Amino acid sequence: MSHARFAPVTDSIVRELRSICGDANVIFGDASRLARYSRDQVPEKHSHVPPEAVVMPGAAAEVQAVMRLANRELIPVTPRGAGSGLSGGAIPVFGGICLSMERMNRILEVDTANLVAVVEPGVVTNKLDETLKPLGLFFAGYPMSEEICTLGGNVAHNAGGGRAVKYGVTRRYITGLDVVTPSGELLTLGGKRFKDVTGYDLVGLMVGSEGTLGVVTRIIIRLLPRPRYRRSLLVLFDGVRPAIETVPEIVIGGRMVPASIEFMDRISFQEACRSLKESLPWERAGAAMLLESDGSHEAQVAEEAAMMESVCRARGPLDVFTADSEVDSARFWKIRKQIPWTLKALSTHSSIEDIVVPVGEIPAIVEKIQGLEKEYAVRVPVFGHAGDGNLHAHPLKDPLSTEAAWYELIPRLLTDLYTATAALGGTISGEHGIGSKRRQFLPLVMGAGQIDLLRRIKQAFDPNGILNPGKIFD
Ligand SMILES: Cc1cc2nc3c(=O)[nH]c(=O)nc-3n(C[C@H](O)[C@H](O)[C@H](O)COP(=O)(O)OP(=O)(O)OC[C@H]3O[C@@H](n4cnc5c(N)ncnc54)[C@H](O)[C@@H]3O)c2cc1C
Repeated sequence: MSHARFAPVTDSIVRELRSICGDANVIFGDASRLARYSRDQVPEKHSHVPPEAVVMPGAAAEVQAVMRLANRELIPVTPRGAGSGLSGGAIPVFGGICLSMERMNRILEVDTANLVAVVEPGVVTNKLDETLKPLGLFFAGYPMSEEICTLGGNVAHNAGGGRAVKYGVTRRYITGLDVVTPSGELLTLGGKRFKDVTGYDLVGLMVGSEGTLGVVTRIIIRLLPRPRYRRSLLVLFDGVRPAIETVPEIVIGGRMVPASIEFMDRISFQEACRSLKESLPWERAGAAMLLESDGSHEAQVAEEAAMMESVCRARGPLDVFTADSEVDSARFWKIRKQIPWTLKALSTHSSIEDIVVPVGEIPAIVEKIQGLEKEYAVRVPVFGHAGDGNLHAHPLKDPLSTEAAWYELIPRLLTDLYTATAALGGTISGEHGIGSKRRQFLPLVMGAGQIDLLRRIKQAFDPNGILNPGKIFD
């Protein structure tokens, strides 16, 4: 998708980019290498667009110089972490420059006196976790894609993961950021302090801004003591209803905050187990819950796990499996983590969704999704972070229907799904972001006045609209 307001990346621009970042750190004119940067993990292949050039800066000063050049020449710039996103956020929809942060991948400091880590944005999230483990610390806002995503991407999407029900999402842990603005200015926002009400909360604004307001070049992350004990339960039910109804019972009725409440419907759970050749008796399961408690006191962790187990047992589960060791718990999580990959492989066309509703509405939205399955005659497996009210419905194209029929059906199905979600007090993305994938649907959940305010904030940071255009609302 070209755009009249943007200029192309010419040979002379490439010479300037090479003088800023070094010859080896600019890709231009090599279609197969550029293609690697044309996509993220959204399954919709038609959304892939290669950049005209990829630039891999090694320092904030290089990011500043690239942004000054792009702003002067009106060339679009799309920041990129690992490309694991699920909203098309890192797809350079207007071509231009892909600003890949892969070389800025150092953990600069683990400050145990202040319980913070200072990192560059290209650090793979799991690498920070491996560094923190022996110190008895952790970054609690990490997503479940931790092995393949970067901390810069986590900040840009305000990522959340399997433990957000207890620990919250990325924003809670970001105390400071260095950010390069679209015109090339370097802003140092916040710091190592845990409280700060000095003016507007620009750190909070940057977290979740999907790379549209500035390029993050340094991140200060608050750390927590790593929980010493955890207990996981994998509970198999014969149907969706008894499984999903445990969620409000545990979260609201139970008056406790478990570490994880993950839901998997029949297709999600069975297909993931099948692809892993899992020996658990998964064939009978109509749904499964993965529940976990953690903490510093063994007795309390055991008590919370027992409470969750009794809620589940009252609903007549098929089986309850418990794990006290890291190895057994990892086995349960492996099944849950396998689901997005398995579902994506089940069909040539699919759409991974990220709706979120108030947690008491979880049973109602699952029922609505089941209704949509029947109405549209497509399979819509559903799984996700049920304890946060955040579910990933994953419509799959029927193998017997045509591609044209799928592209005609999917916007209607999503409109119905999002409208039902909004009617329950929910919204269209809990953690994956709007990106390019969902921007056409934003007016379903946000009024014109609010969208206009977002546009004016964007305008204040990026008057020329060169940073990650075509995302959120452009
Ligand atoms: C199997 C699977 C499981 C997943 N599970 C979860 C989950 O549990 N929770 C969750 O929240 N997400 C999940 N995701 C989605 C994804 O992994 C996260 O959104 C992740 O935070 C993206 O990180 P990334 O480095 O891959 O970013 P990318 O995909 O490269 O980019 C994402 C966005 O961040 C922007 N960006 C990247 N770096 C910077 C920077 N330095 N400065 C400014 N903007 C930047 C990009 O422009 C883009 O808009 C999952 C994805 C997959 C494939």
